[in-house]
Amino acid sequence: MDSIISVRNVTYEYKEDETVYAAVRNLSLEIERGSFTVILGHNGSGKSTLAKMLNGLNKPTSGDVLVDGINTRDEKTEIEIKRKVGMVFQNPDNQIIASIVEEDVAFGPENLGIAPAEIRLRVDEALKAVDMYEFKNSTPHHLSGGQKQRIAIAGIIAMESECLVLDEPTAMLDPKGRAEIIDTLHRLNREKGITVVLITHYMEEAENADRVIVMNDGGIIADALPEIIFSDVEMLKSVGLDVPQTAELLYRLKKIGFAVDTHALSVSGAAGEIIKALNSEEK
Ligand code: ADP
Ligand code: MG
Repeated sequence: MDSIISVRNVTYEYKEDETVYAAVRNLSLEIERGSFTVILGHNGSGKSTLAKMLNGLNKPTSGDVLVDGINTRDEKTEIEIKRKVGMVFQNPDNQIIASIVEEDVAFGPENLGIAPAEIRLRVDEALKAVDMYEFKNSTPHHLSGGQKQRIAIAGIIAMESECLVLDEPTAMLDPKGRAEIIDTLHRLNREKGITVVLITHYMEEAENADRVIVMNDGGIIADALPEIIFSDVEMLKSVGLDVPQTAELLYRLKKIGFAVDTHALSVSGAAGEIIKALNSEEK
């Protein structure tokens, strides 16, 4: 596998007074360049702690994280790693600095010392990539949550990051804003080859991922294609995750003897399975 990020036997401990708590425990993970990975897990399972290790914001207590082969412990390459792996957090209001959209997007490349003419090109391209070009002269505070998160993503694109790590970027958004973000991420992944690592607790946001990882208690308990993960209703319930309604329905029908394929996740796919099963019952 051509990994952009390698997490090798990593443990992360929080120390408070006399107590030590391992939020991530001996975890290993390879993220393939150009892939779209979703990480699921209930509150406290260690997702944010892991996310912050992927670009060196958190340094492992033991084990190593490599970004493009560079160890995040190496202080000389800290800026290079932060540029390669950009992070987006939950709260859109905490991530916007400037009072004009295009100035905000320019902030990252300015800090990298990029020439002004080049910055201008990158900012325009990044705003087009997240479909926010028409707002380039707007005031961020007048934008919706989804638009603000897209501005935050544009800031990372303008630094030419190869990988985006997003820690529950849609948690504070309405359904429309959430869909805008998920669509934008898939487009950037498809058209620009940007590697996406999306942390979420919304199951439906994992539907079109290449791979879904489920975390529990600081470790990985499942790592597979979305349809495999979602059809494992018992595993999802055992770690306190909601199961998509289509998966739940097919799971229950199968349990009572209907010949349905529990991997059909979309509403139309599930409906098709049910019709097929009913037709075969009638014969
Ligand atoms: P998630 O993002 O999956 O909700 P976190 O990585 O935020 O999980 O937290 C994992 C565990 O680490 C939780 O038990 C949490 O209480 C603990 N934790 C997180 N941040 C800190 C901190 N700054 N100090 C002490 N414990 C923390
Ligand atoms: Mg978290």
